This record gives sequence, C-alpha cells and structure tokens, in this order.
Amino acid sequence: MNRGLSRGCALMSIGLLLAAPLTSGQQPDVVARIRAEGQQRSSALGLYRALTDEIGARLTGSPSHMQAARWAIERFKEWGLTNTHLEPFDFGRGWQLERVSVEMTEPRYVPLVAYADAWSPSTTGVVSGRAIYIGDKNAEQIQAMAGQLRGAIVLTHLPQAEFVDRDRPQPGLDDRPVATGNPALAGPRRATAVNDLTDLLKKLGVAVALRPSAYRDGTVGVTGNRATPTDAVPTIVVAGEQYNVIARLAAQGRPVSLRVELRTRSFEEDRNSYNVIADIPGRDPALRDQIVLVGAHLDSWHTASGATDNADGAVAVMEAMRILRAIGAEPRRTIRVALWSGEEQGLLGARAHVAQHYATPGARNQLAVYLNDDPGSGRTLGFYMEGNTQAKALFDRWLAPLTDLGATRNIIEGIGSTDHVPFNEAGMPGFNVIKDFGAYDERTRHTNADYPERMTDEALKQSAIVMATFAWQAAMADGMIPRKPAK
Ligand SMILES: [Zn+2]
Repeated sequence: MNRGLSRGCALMSIGLLLAAPLTSGQQPDVVARIRAEGQQRSSALGLYRALTDEIGARLTGSPSHMQAARWAIERFKEWGLTNTHLEPFDFGRGWQLERVSVEMTEPRYVPLVAYADAWSPSTTGVVSGRAIYIGDKNAEQIQAMAGQLRGAIVLTHLPQAEFVDRDRPQPGLDDRPVATGNPALAGPRRATAVNDLTDLLKKLGVAVALRPSAYRDGTVGVTGNRATPTDAVPTIVVAGEQYNVIARLAAQGRPVSLRVELRTRSFEEDRNSYNVIADIPGRDPALRDQIVLVGAHLDSWHTASGATDNADGAVAVMEAMRILRAIGAEPRRTIRVALWSGEEQGLLGARAHVAQHYATPGARNQLAVYLNDDPGSGRTLGFYMEGNTQAKALFDRWLAPLTDLGATRNIIEGIGSTDHVPFNEAGMPGFNVIKDFGAYDERTRHTNADYPERMTDEALKQSAIVMATFAWQAAMADGMIPRKPAK
C-alpha cells in the first residue's frame, strides 16, 4: 500500500501527497522512496513548462523575475514548506524589453535577428537611415566623421571572423583526467581599441549602435550591464552573419539602409531584488538548527526562456523539495531551498544571503552544506568536490545507489562562476552538480536559443532525484560534512 494515500490529500497541488513521517531508522527506505516519487509522480516537467513557456525570461529586476519568484513561493506553500519568503537585497534599476525590430531596407529587405543589451535605453522612436560603419576607425577618425554620426545607425565593430565553436570539456563521463572551466569565448572586435567608445558615441549623438554576436547560425549572445546610464546610446547585438553582410557592404561604401526600433522600460520604484527561500524543518533537537541548503539561480538573461541557464537547475531543486515533502521525509537537519536572484550580475543574491546569514564563524558552522545546480543541461553526472577529498569519500557513498540513473562520478576538481562560490569563499562547504555541456556553451548559454528543448523529462526527473537524495543524506548524516582544512 502506498502510505502516501493513507492520509488523504487535502493539498491538491501538483503531485503532492502527504505521507506518514519518516524517521532516521527508515533511512535506507527513503532513498528508494525518493526515486519512486521522483520517477512515478514527477512534477518536474510541469514546473519546467511553467517557468520557461508561461513565465519565460527572468532578468534580475524585471517584472517577469518577480512573477517567477512569486510563482515559486506559491508552489512551496502548496507543498507545505515552512519559512517561505522573499529575501530582499539591494540590486538597482530594473529593466524590461518591450520591443526590438531591426530590418535592412536597402539594397533589399531582410528582417534581422537582433536583441538589445539588457539595460539599454530606447531609441527615439523608429530610426531609419544609412548604416555607418566605424569598425575599422580609431577615435580620431570617428571624431572626424562627427557630421555623419549625429542621429545615425552605427556599426561599431569589425565583421565577426571568429565564432564560438566549442563547448567546455565534459567532466564526469569516465575516469580520465578532468579539465574544467569556461571556454574562452570569441568576442566582437574592433580594428583599434577605443577605450571610451561609448562616451564618444554619446558625445557625437549617435542614435543607436549595432555590433555582431560571436555565435553562429543566427544564435545571438546577449547580456548587459545594469550600470548603463539611462541616457546612454542604445545598443543592439545582431546575428554575426547578418552583421557581416551589412558591415561588408557599408565598408565598401555601398548604400545599406536600416530601420531600427527599440523600446525598453526601467523600473526604479523597488531597487531590491529577491531570493526565494523555503524550509523543510529539521526534527532532531540537537541538529535542527543546522542547515542543508540546496539552491539554483532563478534569474536568467532576457532574450529567450532561460531554460538551460537556469530553469533546469531551479526546477531540480524545487522538485527535490516537493519529493521530500511528498514522501513525508522528516530530516534531522533543516533542509532549506534558495532560488537565487542576481546570479547573472555577479552571484549577487547568493553573496547577499551569505552576508545576511553567515557573517560569523558560529553561523557558518551551522551550514552543513550547500548544494547548487547550475551550469550545463541534461542529467546530473555527480558533483564537483572543490578539492575536498574527505567530503568526496562521503559523496561517493551517496552517489553509489544512483549510478544506474547516470550519476556516476564525483570529481575532485572545482568549478567557478556560480552560486556555491560565495559559500566556499566564506569557508563553508559548497558544491555544484556536474551537468552535460553538449551545446551549452556553443548554443544556449546567454543566447536567444536558450529554450527548453535541450532538456528531457528524464533528465529533469533525474536531476531532482539526485538533488533530493543528497539533501536527505546530508540532513541525516551523523557527523558534519568535512570542511576543507583552512589554507
Ligand atoms: Zn548564466
């Protein structure tokens, strides 16, 4: 009999059935029940569809990020999590894209694949006219063109010659030595460095600046800078191959006309952004003040659906919490989930959380472990162990029953650039999952191609099961997870 059914289901939320509590004596059973719940009654795909199709891109400070945060809060409440709240931190001006349209109208009509940098101001209405190419000019030469540049559509960079053609090395698949780290990404180039190009273009009254994306085949990589002044020159990134057509023609003096419209909106009223926090409270009086934290960033860049970066990670940790509640798990330590904001602007939400909650050695000792789900997509292969050999021995034991799900190897190496980093920097044990990198760097990360098709239902389920299992093990372990000796 499924004990989950014996208590009825007052909460008719996605897949949640309250079950009789499980205690530490039943631990071996729990790992199996996590798998059964995660595989047979998964909500992962539904959560993923809601986050990517219904809400979509979730730029920090945008209304859609707030919509996602509130949506997550509602799910956590439905599932019966406690301490469910939005945790503010100072962020700055919010921004949202309302319209962008870039078209070539001469020598022929071509609609262009183009996106605004986040935090770019709007153009003044529709801007039409000759494209002026300055990719090969130095500051002096640009200054000399002042007469042509006022109110103009300007191509600021050379045609894109190098493209992003590689994903980072894939750790975790076999026993070979591991290479980690982000690949060096090709960027747009200019013939001569102009340090203050932005200021110069502003001074000369340029209407809008276009530059090429370094991704191939219509993929456009776009981020943005939240410190962009509201009166800066509007900036737009165009698909590399299309930019090249325009730039080559314009460089030869052939007439190329463009029509550009960019409409963006700023939000100044609330300069906070918010992490989403919720708990499954610990039941052991001696251990319940210790926190096992699982998390992922909920924010994304603004051009697609932020599916692989990082809706898949957010769903993995949400579904892990749902699974643990659904099977009635009663952990010894408190299991807390955090959906970070501001990751893309510099791990801001996680940094704020560390500063707010783990400022003293005593507080830091209460964090049993932080488990993060971010870079890559697909299934979870294991964890990056950040050079912590003792913790690796423990994690290897916890991974063993999951190998048939494709989680086969923890690696001793670490990984940077995501939300476990501030925990490690403060001397706490933070680890990130190893994911598949197929097409992540080359295609989906921070691009207009970050859509949910790169994840399968199986991979979403598996990632949640791995995360729930590790959270449970960490919450039940007799001792603390070993910390790396201080250097
Ligand atoms: Zn990212």
